[in-house]
Amino acid sequence: MADYNEGDLVRVVKNGKEYRGIVMPSRSDKVVLKLKNGYNVGLSLDGTTVELLERASAPPKPARREHPHKKGLPNVTILSTGGTIASRVDYRTGAVSSQFTADDILDAIPELTDIANFNGKVLSMIFSEDMDASTWQNLARACHEEIKNGADGIIVTHGTDTMSYTAAALSFMIRSPVPIVLVGAQRSSDRPSSDNAMNMLCAATVATSDIAGVTVVMHGETSDDFCYVHRGTKVRKLHTSMRTAFQSVNVPPIARVDYSARNIIKITDHVKRGENELLLRDKMEPRCALVKFYPGMPPDIIEYYRGKGYRGLVLEGTGLGHVGTAWIPAVGKAAKEMVIVMASQCINGRICD
Ligand code: GLU
Repeated sequence: MADYNEGDLVRVVKNGKEYRGIVMPSRSDKVVLKLKNGYNVGLSLDGTTVELLERASAPPKPARREHPHKKGLPNVTILSTGGTIASRVDYRTGAVSSQFTADDILDAIPELTDIANFNGKVLSMIFSEDMDASTWQNLARACHEEIKNGADGIIVTHGTDTMSYTAAALSFMIRSPVPIVLVGAQRSSDRPSSDNAMNMLCAATVATSDIAGVTVVMHGETSDDFCYVHRGTKVRKLHTSMRTAFQSVNVPPIARVDYSARNIIKITDHVKRGENELLLRDKMEPRCALVKFYPGMPPDIIEYYRGKGYRGLVLEGTGLGHVGTAWIPAVGKAAKEMVIVMASQCINGRICD
């Protein structure tokens, strides 16, 4: 068995099949290889031979470019929160890690500097599942501060999995005279089909446009021609892996951004730059739960949340907003102490006029 380390080039033979690749961080019973085609393969070390082909050289220092301020361009602040768009690949090992600051983004996508002058703040470096009401408060306050200090637009880089929650929260927390654009990537920058550069360039186009308020800008179709601009309160991630996962629900998107021409084609009405006064409403009640009803579900979950001191419940009912009849008295009782509202499990349609 060869003595090898992360970053080394090795040849692995497993069940008569040969794999060549760079050793990535692996568990002790496995070797994970970054193959030449960019994909990773994990092989159990059981019955496997590993031959060292080449030792890794020292990790290259990331190239740092200067990004001089360009006169006449708008000023955009990038607030980084984490997620796949914030991931960077270590080309020695192929490992993807979260370490993107605004400067890293400009180094990786230099075309951005033709669109605006960028300032950056790293608010967090987390997966979006780890966000909570306090993250949204910090983000809303940071947007407010940047706009008060003269930013012409804001870009929030964000994990895609809960991006629509943050977009909705920010839409209600901040009334903005300038664009606040949330953007993410379904595929990390080490993959040939990565969407991070295109989404980011389209986001910058929107951040410098006349589309004020909170929007999400993500890939619009399977090829690389355009992104859609979605209203922050109307967008949802509707696919686990496709780059077109984000769609506006119940309404058309606000606009589409043509990637190569960098122009915006409007589809619906929107609030225009400068139309609204800046306003921050940053109060949040974290003790609020989302409960999805299913057939046969006992109503005692309501008692559980009431007993834990929750102040609000959003019930995701069926169809127009229904739950089983056994729930009616339980909801009536709990509603004396907490706010209970009904939403629908249906993706499309309304539950009230
Ligand atoms: N689940 C992670 C997140 O939402 C990574 C996925 C992504 O960024 O698309 O932050």
